[in-house]
Amino acid sequence: MDHTKHLISLAAAAPLVFGVLLAMGGATGPVAWSGISAERMLANIKILSSDEYEGRAPASKGEELATQFIEKQFKQLGLKPGNPDGAYFQNVPMVGITADPAAELVFADPAGGKQMTLKYADDFVAWTKREEPQVSVDADMVFVGYGVVAPEYKWDDYKGADVKGKVMVVLINDPPVPDPNDPSKLDEKTFKGKAMTYYGRWTYKFEIAAKRGAAGCLIVHQTAPAGYPWGVVKNSNTGEQFSLVTADKGMSRSAVEGWMTYDKAKELFAMAGKDFDALEKAAVSRDFRPVDLGLKASLALKNSIRTIESKNVVAKLEGADPMLRDEYVIYTAHWDHLGIGPEVNGDKIYHGAVDNASGVAGLLEIARAYTEIQPPPRRSILFLSVTAEEKGLLGSQYYAEHPLYPLVKTLAEINMDGLNMLGPTKDMEVIGLGQSTLDDVVKAVAAEQGRAVKPDAEPEKGYYYRSDHFNFAKQGVPALDPSEGVDYVGKPPGWGLEMREKFTAEDYHKPSDKVKPYWTCVALSRICSFSERSAIASQIRKPTQPGRLGRNSRRQGKRCPSQPREGRTEYVPYRENMA
Ligand SMILES: [Zn+2]
Repeated sequence: MDHTKHLISLAAAAPLVFGVLLAMGGATGPVAWSGISAERMLANIKILSSDEYEGRAPASKGEELATQFIEKQFKQLGLKPGNPDGAYFQNVPMVGITADPAAELVFADPAGGKQMTLKYADDFVAWTKREEPQVSVDADMVFVGYGVVAPEYKWDDYKGADVKGKVMVVLINDPPVPDPNDPSKLDEKTFKGKAMTYYGRWTYKFEIAAKRGAAGCLIVHQTAPAGYPWGVVKNSNTGEQFSLVTADKGMSRSAVEGWMTYDKAKELFAMAGKDFDALEKAAVSRDFRPVDLGLKASLALKNSIRTIESKNVVAKLEGADPMLRDEYVIYTAHWDHLGIGPEVNGDKIYHGAVDNASGVAGLLEIARAYTEIQPPPRRSILFLSVTAEEKGLLGSQYYAEHPLYPLVKTLAEINMDGLNMLGPTKDMEVIGLGQSTLDDVVKAVAAEQGRAVKPDAEPEKGYYYRSDHFNFAKQGVPALDPSEGVDYVGKPPGWGLEMREKFTAEDYHKPSDKVKPYWTCVALSRICSFSERSAIASQIRKPTQPGRLGRNSRRQGKRCPSQPREGRTEYVPYRENMA
């Protein structure tokens, strides 16, 4: 699960042209394309999101169908197997752990004799990443505020408290620190103002709690700070939960990880004789200290465990230039979705049409365009459809940790997760703008199209950390997720964001994420028009130092934030904080 991501807003064509700039490797003059077909894309989306594909869960019939479908398309396009072993697949070993949904989480007051019982899925979700048939906790609870240890912001919510063997209760997102000069705004200098940093992400909360030796960590869900409603948390965290296979069988993680609803958290604090609102406020301060709740949390999870191999599907278009063909541009789009789950309005297949049949269809169409492009690209291009994005970005994590081609020779990673189906826009939004050296390329393309480049419209939702490009960025590969923007041609201001919110509320991670009759692929064909493409192709820049494009900003004296080798970056916390 990543749980989430920006929705509806990505256009296939924008990532295409960004990649072309890099992949062409300095070629100049017009590039001849054959058309990108919106109809073909829509047809592929319909196939991938059909009932037959059963929501494309990893290690299901849906995986077999989806990965075979993608492989077949790659073969038909004449693309080479992307794995040097001669296959179109990269196996991704994962462990799947299913907790018994009969689990109850009990908060008890040992002194007062009171207790409250939370109902699985309705009130809380919990899981373990440990490969053990049973895990249990029965431990003191400590409220650790936002659970952040961020030396660069001189922030430490743990304050050296001994939390070993205890259960952390933690708030989601970054501490919302007000601007000292204008309390109506958030302080840009502390946790980047309104934008979510990695410290705000749920993954981080669990990582740091485990590192401090906590037995458990429960995040208090709040819709606005999390960026999604409880239903998303519930759907994404119940049923089988996957991780990459690790040498220590998950034992470095806390025994129990989970979320609880806001309402139950308030009840919990009331039972502890504490005021949730007051403590939430107190947590927005460097002076905050962990608060012992004086209550115990007990939970036993019975787990069924299996190991599986899921698959990334990967194809390669070899670069035409012998000098440049060992340099790579990677396009990614995850093929997986949530599979079959709880029934909603009579449907239990989570079709994932936007998320992310659309991205896969875009990937296939981009691959097709590249095979027909003249002159052919000089650099090599990988088309990588990854697994288990919905399970925590696992397929892309596996590739980034076990790359098939050196990451240092990987100039760019362009991710597609949820394409725009709503029509052309006047702007272009880039998840990851300001985070990598690809900004210049993005701006050049946008300028050609007369479109405004905007950073992520909702940085508070932390989309940058919520899809597959982030795993590449963590390894130092310039990576981004170009998006279609929110300012739609012929629509009133605010319509784009409204439609996005409507999707989040009604369809996101629900069975109803299906092909809609009102979808238009106008945006795609418009952007892909021949004139626009040839105009872009004539603007292709030659990187001053081939193979080092991702390091340009360093030479220009700017910091390249996607460089973990520097020890810290804009968005990855200090290495010491990483679990
Ligand atoms: Zn998703």
